[in-house]
Amino acid sequence: MDIKRNILLNPGPATTTDTVKLAQVVPDICPREKEFASLMAGLREDLVRVVHGDPAKYAAVLFCGSGTLCMDVCLSSLLPEGGKALILNNGSYSSRAAEICRYYGLPHIELKFPFDQRPDLDAVERTLRENPDISLVYITHNETGTGLLNPIREIGALAHTYHAIFVADTTSTYAMRPIDIEADNIDFCMASAQKGLMAITGLSFVIGRRDIIEASKDYPRRSYYCNLWRQYDCFERTGEMAFTPPVQTTYAAIQAMKEYWQEGEQAKWARHTRVFEAIHAGLKKLGFRDMIRREWQAGLVVTVLYPDDPSWNFEKVHDYCYERGFTIYPGKVGTAGTFRLCALGAIDVPDIEAFFQVFRQALDVCGVAVPARYQD
Ligand SMILES: *Cc1c(COP(=O)(O)O)cnc(C)c1O
Repeated sequence: MDIKRNILLNPGPATTTDTVKLAQVVPDICPREKEFASLMAGLREDLVRVVHGDPAKYAAVLFCGSGTLCMDVCLSSLLPEGGKALILNNGSYSSRAAEICRYYGLPHIELKFPFDQRPDLDAVERTLRENPDISLVYITHNETGTGLLNPIREIGALAHTYHAIFVADTTSTYAMRPIDIEADNIDFCMASAQKGLMAITGLSFVIGRRDIIEASKDYPRRSYYCNLWRQYDCFERTGEMAFTPPVQTTYAAIQAMKEYWQEGEQAKWARHTRVFEAIHAGLKKLGFRDMIRREWQAGLVVTVLYPDDPSWNFEKVHDYCYERGFTIYPGKVGTAGTFRLCALGAIDVPDIEAFFQVFRQALDVCGVAVPARYQD
């Protein structure tokens, strides 16, 4: 089978290998069979190992859905009666977390920081000191809307000093940027199969401390489908999800996990890093500017400023590239016009070089000046 290879420079779903795509083609199976449960058991252990967790202390709980489901699960399941969540918000994904709190009517404090700044740790500490009812601190590791990396280890330590649990949305770093769940002071992290793992959409997972999940059994149950303890308990007792799992997606995730171990944590991170550097090099050559201070970038997403050029038209450039197999992605910051180029997926430097040839042609076709023009 010959499958057209597209280069996805959007922040997930990412470009997959053909072996991962084809792993979905399996004989039909009822997921209530022991054979399928044992596949999920192996995958759950591997998911904990990716972040160097001890499977006796941490568990991976799988869900059928996209990554936002894990945010929903953590926030709605891990807040005890009388507890309050502290959402550290410097971007669109943390805004989504605050929105989830509002939907559920969860007591929470949303501490906002500018989208191009790291959170002020003194302000975080002050808030924790003044609000002893904060029982959960939440942040996004790589704020995918901008590509800014938040200092999870320091924030996790602060959370623990003030007896709160720490939830980090690692959806856009997991299985790319190395994470050590215990050393990074994470109680719960999360991801989705189609990002760092380079698998297929539809399977997401929360990884976190068993003792906290077990304690959460007595917390208010705010969602029927998205309750962490319920799904965990079902896995522990039966090896199955409470409801129908994404069967074929799970086979693909298992193949992707095999390929993850084959490539290796360090080699994979080195590859993403060189792809990221190649994106920066290509942009620099064309005079494009990016938005976030380089030393704060997580190394996976580049937010590019639109040039001040009347001929610039994101849609046209996008369509030109898309028709040639390259997908670029709009930005997610309120004010300035931006687009994103991401280093996720089964791609390498030659793919980025090929992309920039096409991107350059797109600029020429649209009549955009090179080097790109900016006022100031
Ligand atoms: C992709 C992503 C999610 C999940 O988004 P979905 O559209 O639900 O897959 C959550 N958080 C972060 C930081 C992400 O990058």
